[in-house]
Amino acid sequence: MTNNPFIQDRIAAARLMVVGCGALGNEVLKNLALLGAEHLILVDFDRVEVGNLSRSVLFTKEDAESGRYKVDAARDRLKGMNPALEVQTIRGDIAYDVGLGLAREMDVVIGCVDNRWARYCINRLCMRAGIPWVDGGIGTLEGTVRVFAPGENCYACNLGPEGLKDMARRQPCSGVIRREEEAGKAPTTPMIASVIGAVQVQEALKLLHPEALADGSLTSLCGKMFYYEGERLSTRLVDFKAYDPDCPVHDCWEPVRPSSLHAAMSVAEALAYLRTELRSEQVSIALTGDCFVDEVLRREGEGRLEVMLPGRAVAARLEQDPAWRGIPLSALYQNEWRVIDGTFPYPGLTLSQLGIPERDVLYVTADTGDYYMEMQ
Ligand SMILES: [Zn+2]
Repeated sequence: MTNNPFIQDRIAAARLMVVGCGALGNEVLKNLALLGAEHLILVDFDRVEVGNLSRSVLFTKEDAESGRYKVDAARDRLKGMNPALEVQTIRGDIAYDVGLGLAREMDVVIGCVDNRWARYCINRLCMRAGIPWVDGGIGTLEGTVRVFAPGENCYACNLGPEGLKDMARRQPCSGVIRREEEAGKAPTTPMIASVIGAVQVQEALKLLHPEALADGSLTSLCGKMFYYEGERLSTRLVDFKAYDPDCPVHDCWEPVRPSSLHAAMSVAEALAYLRTELRSEQVSIALTGDCFVDEVLRREGEGRLEVMLPGRAVAARLEQDPAWRGIPLSALYQNEWRVIDGTFPYPGLTLSQLGIPERDVLYVTADTGDYYMEMQ
């Protein structure tokens, strides 16, 4: 038997983000707490339901009955297991609600999500931040683990042209209003969540020990996919290396400039700050994650609804309104803003109201060039 190759101080000091607190996320988080991890960020928008209890070690019947958010229930259980644990929770969607500045502080992100779009968004965030991530996926008795690292391989590059086209269709703001899609609830078992969650954590720990990866005493799964099938108990390693030099999804955003910008600032304040800071008469902020929608119109006939919301929130807003509920998407038009500059008609709105998350990095164009400006 060999000694434990992992350095305890390294695990305790690591900053780890776990995206998705379902069956797989529960296993990953349990392992991290037992291992002595001390700095975690949890991301999930869902609440605990009774159906989760059969495969989620961190949730209780009371959590389900009171409809607690998964991130809150998980945080409390984890802190009970390891009081030294510092847990930050984000009740939100990985596509929109996690600031790039926050992601840049992570050592590794562990993805425990159940759909391609969420994986695409985790990959984009991690590549922009320049950090590796570990993906896990589970079915009933089969599962996969993959590791992606900037400069090595990329989830989007491995999707192929059809997959990428599908992702482009999922982007908000492509001219039609989208209704929320119910994430596929695939049947799964606690066994497969344990196996796959354990391999994910093991791979995450390896990424914290680059010197051991360099001298060959540890081997990373990066560039390969681990496949496990429980019915016949078979495992496979297959190549997963694609890294297209022209892929726009895996751009690293650098250099990043620190700034005094923050989410509670108004558009007018932010633009004034940027004009001074960048010594530029004209500045514009690109909304790269989601658009801002001021109004929705019917394509034919009368009807105009002021919404003033990020694109992602428009569908739910329409559903609340009897006059607008159930109208086919093809009959509607939404007026979108993707670039915010001096001509934006609502300068009093805050960056947060535009849908920009806290601690994000803004893509700013000025007379003097393009800049990545990190918010506080
Ligand atoms: Zn790529």
